[in-house]
Amino acid sequence: MTAGTAALLAEFDRRLGPGGVVSDTAGLEPYVTEWRKLWRGAALAAVRPRSTAEVAFVVERAAAAGVAIVAQSGNTGLVGGGVPDAGQIVLSLERMTGVRAVDPAGFTMTLEAGVILADAQRVAAEVDRLFPLSLAAEGSARIGGVLGTNAGGTQVLRYGNARDLVLGLEVVLADGQVWNGLKALRKDNTGYDLRHLFVGSEGTLGIITAAVLKLFPANRQRATALVAVPDLGAAVALLARARQASGDAVTGFEAMNAIGVDMVVRHGTGISHPLPGYGWYVLIELTSPAAGDDLTRQLQACLESALEDGLALDAVVAQSSAQANQLWRVREFLSEAQGFEGASIKHDVSVPIGAIADYSAETEAAVVAAIPGARVVNFGHLGDGNLHFNISQPIGADPKAFLARWDEVNRIVYDRAHALGGSFSAEHGVGRLKVSDVVRYKDPVGVAMMQRVKAALDPQGVFNPGKVVPPPGG
Ligand SMILES: Cc1cc2nc3c(=O)[nH]c(=O)nc-3n(C[C@H](O)[C@H](O)[C@H](O)COP(=O)(O)OP(=O)(O)OC[C@H]3O[C@@H](n4cnc5c(N)ncnc54)[C@H](O)[C@@H]3O)c2cc1C
Repeated sequence: MTAGTAALLAEFDRRLGPGGVVSDTAGLEPYVTEWRKLWRGAALAAVRPRSTAEVAFVVERAAAAGVAIVAQSGNTGLVGGGVPDAGQIVLSLERMTGVRAVDPAGFTMTLEAGVILADAQRVAAEVDRLFPLSLAAEGSARIGGVLGTNAGGTQVLRYGNARDLVLGLEVVLADGQVWNGLKALRKDNTGYDLRHLFVGSEGTLGIITAAVLKLFPANRQRATALVAVPDLGAAVALLARARQASGDAVTGFEAMNAIGVDMVVRHGTGISHPLPGYGWYVLIELTSPAAGDDLTRQLQACLESALEDGLALDAVVAQSSAQANQLWRVREFLSEAQGFEGASIKHDVSVPIGAIADYSAETEAAVVAAIPGARVVNFGHLGDGNLHFNISQPIGADPKAFLARWDEVNRIVYDRAHALGGSFSAEHGVGRLKVSDVVRYKDPVGVAMMQRVKAALDPQGVFNPGKVVPPPGG
């Protein structure tokens, strides 16, 4: 550490008070370790402001000293966007957990960036409203991070992704200025809609410190089923039927192949197989804010007709909320279960929904042809055309030799998605993992626009250098 950086940290320490600066090795550990252990970061310090003014102070002073800043909220991101490099500081939003306003009549709430996603859902539920963003990491992910990554999750089909749930933002810019865009308006056509620049920018354009979020009527009914289907084509047809039959009440439609579900059953404590012996499963959930008990009947009727027509092979309809939660545990434990099966190469692709069945079959065959014995754990938010097309190593193979083929596997999975007009990153973002894929797959004019936006808002490259935006000419 130079005298200059030591002086900077001392300045932060004075301004932020006790717990505001963490710089010892043990204390820094959680800020330099990422969820999947794909990277190990390094940092001068983690700085933990408690207010927007303190964030602005840190950004202004760090920028003046030429020290780069990596924003971190819950540190559950999956593409290395929040992993710092030596000489950088982590700016953690974890102490900014204020609820600034809740307006049940206007269906909005204003939260600070460090509020944990599960707490945000609870804040809404306390006033009989729904905040629908939901993902397996919701006990740790925070509002700043879910907006920074434009997170998706399990209810995008009905409510949209994080971007669709934001009405206004407060953001600290690279020179320390605070942009107050905290409007709770549904209509505001007064020029460029700046909030959308920051949502999904993964900490490269500004630090989100607070947000006005949309609320919805709380649900009164929920009907959940696990359905065995012959293939993904049938699953897509079942989705269309269920949406029509239920008056578009489908909020969740998660596909899972048998390889993945079997892994869950092998490794998940207390999880037994609800429907053994089939190749593909769909977890389907209908919800409605209307009181009554017609939703389960609607789901049952829809599934009966699907069984008659061969779109479904078998089904378990949850008879209680506890049983519905058990079915969801199968889906939620899928990523973790793969960890018990050795090394894996994970993807997060999207393709147009109509192309998803052919895409899956052809890509799976190509992966297995390249690596015999590779196990494709194929699951995802089918209603969004989003698959987590994950490959587990062949049983008994050397994990290092398998992981050495990462790029080759990526080309198989991404080239096919790209050819169908799909995306190499449906919801996890770019971070440091997929910058080269931005160059490879995105429209060059679009990449040049991204570079110009970055240069305009962060000319010094203070925020998250090397992430998301490829360097010009790189
Ligand atoms: C088990 C598991 C399941 C997951 N499931 C899903 C899923 O279904 N759908 C999905 O979309 N994602 C999923 N994710 C990925 C992850 O949870 C999301 O990306 C989440 O939105 C990250 O939130 P976070 O608070 O942890 O962000 P962090 O990891 O702290 O940060 C993520 C990125 O956002 C930036 N950032 C953080 N805070 C701010 C801020 N205040 N302002 C600006 N930029 C900021 C960081 O610099 C980084 O680039 C999952 C992750 C895990 C571990």
